[in-house]
Amino acid sequence: MLAYRHAFHAGNHADVLKHLVLVQVLRYMNGKDKPYRYVDTHAGAGGYSLEGRYAQKKGEYERGIALLWERDDLPEPLADYVSLVRQFNPQGALEQYPGSPAIAQMLLRPTDQMRLFELHPTEHRILDAYLGKQRGVEVRHADGFDGLKGTLPPTTRRGVVLMDPSYEGNGDYGKVIASLRDALQRFAEGVYVIWYPQVQKVEAAELPRRLEALAPKGWLHARLTVAKPDSLGFGLAGSGMFVINPPYTLHDTLAGVLPWLVEVLGQYDGANYLLDQRPA
Ligand code: SAM
Repeated sequence: MLAYRHAFHAGNHADVLKHLVLVQVLRYMNGKDKPYRYVDTHAGAGGYSLEGRYAQKKGEYERGIALLWERDDLPEPLADYVSLVRQFNPQGALEQYPGSPAIAQMLLRPTDQMRLFELHPTEHRILDAYLGKQRGVEVRHADGFDGLKGTLPPTTRRGVVLMDPSYEGNGDYGKVIASLRDALQRFAEGVYVIWYPQVQKVEAAELPRRLEALAPKGWLHARLTVAKPDSLGFGLAGSGMFVINPPYTLHDTLAGVLPWLVEVLGQYDGANYLLDQRPA
């Protein structure tokens, strides 16, 4: 059963990190004329109301995107990301938050392609209504772990895969590894961007090390820790982004931004970041 709805979490600190990195990766891809394919294995609804009852229930975006929205001193990569969120809010106020497909839609060129997977029937219906008829876009009501193999290698031999599961059960951790292992055999040169939650679970703690082992040609790992888990060890302390075959510029870009994000999004004195890489 799929209980997870991203609308509860849209625009939170994890989305800020995830979408900051996604924007940087897609901007880098846009640096060459040759078209590429963007694959989103867990696409969500595409965009979210921040005024709806889901987002309002916990107000997670108030400790995420809302803390960046009014700032006039954003470092350049964050200003770039926030400018896309502004583009998604043409009325001027922060009322909606773009999901990863919307961010990709704003950045991809007419010759690039999008393959979006979403399993939840309601999220899929919203996503399909939003992007399903756009040129170059295919929206599939299917399992993204399984469906990924059919999208690789892209005909143009350039591609970015975002893998952003909900990790509802522990099964997703193993599926991330298995589907990426297969994907890398089909398309070793692809850029693979994986989000994971910083929660008190062995599977989550081990995931980066398991991903490193899959990526002989180079990887980058960024983690932003903003909160303490509660007394029972529950709660999202932060999140990580693991990038296989990262743009060579990504490490320096994030090195200039993550300390700033710790200051602005940190919810306790122990807030911190990690940035590590093994270059190609
Ligand atoms: N990537 C989105 C973004 O950044 O805006 C958010 C995605 S949300 C974290 C995860 C989504 O994956 C949920 O909408 C959930 O319904 C969907 N989902 C869960 N299991 C899936 C699977 N096996 N294949 C495709 N979608 C799945």
